Amino acid sequence: QSTKTQSLIDQSEKFGAHNYNPLPIVISKAEGVWVEDPEGNKYMDMLSAYSAVNQGHRHPKIIQALKDQADRVTLTSRAFHNDQLGPWYEMICKLTNKEMALPMNTGAEAVETAIKAARRWAYDVKGVAENQAEIVACVGNFHGRTMTAVSLSSEAEYQRGFGPMLPGIKLIPYGDLEALKNAITENTAAFLIEPIQGEAGIVIPPEGFLKNASELCKENNVLFVADEIQAGLARTGKMFACEWEDVDPDMFILGKALGGGVFPISCVVASKDILGVFNPGSHGSTFGGNPMACAVSVASMNVLVEEKLADRSLELGEYFVGKLKEIKNPIIKEVRGRGLFIGVELTEPARKYCEALKEEGLLCKETHDTVIRFAPPLVISKKELDWAIERISIILG
Ligand code: PLP
Repeated sequence: QSTKTQSLIDQSEKFGAHNYNPLPIVISKAEGVWVEDPEGNKYMDMLSAYSAVNQGHRHPKIIQALKDQADRVTLTSRAFHNDQLGPWYEMICKLTNKEMALPMNTGAEAVETAIKAARRWAYDVKGVAENQAEIVACVGNFHGRTMTAVSLSSEAEYQRGFGPMLPGIKLIPYGDLEALKNAITENTAAFLIEPIQGEAGIVIPPEGFLKNASELCKENNVLFVADEIQAGLARTGKMFACEWEDVDPDMFILGKALGGGVFPISCVVASKDILGVFNPGSHGSTFGGNPMACAVSVASMNVLVEEKLADRSLELGEYFVGKLKEIKNPIIKEVRGRGLFIGVELTEPARKYCEALKEEGLLCKETHDTVIRFAPPLVISKKELDWAIERISIILG
């Protein structure tokens, strides 16, 4: 086979580190919910780059913002101010109803930022003794691939060969309030949680857990930190997944769709008494808050709001889950989700079904071995969803 696709895959295999196991497809073009390979075959994207393209591939308003900004200024570093950062700060604070924001580039960097903020807050504000601060996180979490993020992980393969891990971390089973109670000490700085665990397989906590956990944190002067990098920004049918239980976290960690799949940008947002712990010299990033990212991010947030993508996700998600539940097959253990953030758990490995779905023109990726994640761009139409359901019925029916 000497197709363009095969030669590009061979090139990556030969020269690239093998830290991923992608489906054998090369994407060379994309628009909305559709992508195309070099041979011109079209596929529907049911992954949305792990929720980074919630607004759809190459949303025209976001691309226009990118082009306009590219013609003015792309990078200043934070040694100087730039004219896109102020408007971005104000917009992200209004969207999250928080007082202060700190921009970074990738999700993992924003997680790092949140941990640093929580630790320093513990020492400077809460009064924890030096170097004693603890972070409580959840089994099954995914917070990224930096040393801090993998230190938080319960996954052996994420840590193997990378030790020593960061100290001061405790894990509790996801959704276990008693365990959280027992884990909290006077040294606890923060409880870090994904309001829905994405990489773990679209795992939704038991009803009431988020609310009860946030109250428990408040009673104990512990920061409730929501990693909404994947679940946030309209994905679950609300602007933020914490809204499902009316929880207002002390800190949001955001990324992915914050840049509309066009330019990387992530951030932490919180109140002044938390993010106020940073002073010049304590944290930063050359590209953090760059004008390209800010201009693209403002356009990306505007699209989420103007096109009511949270409402759309809620409505279409209910419809899609209903249709998925109609597929009868003993290998389907559970269909679960919120909005268009859906996991179909199988009784066997999901990879071969993802490969078969690809042959039908539908791109999705297994997560945690037995779960197929369906998370299309939120601009998808009902007609396109029906097309997807037909394909899924052929493979899973
Ligand atoms: N946190 C969550 C919940 C995520 O889903 C991810 C990425 O999948 C990250 C953090 C890490 O983000 P990034 O890959 O941009 O570093």
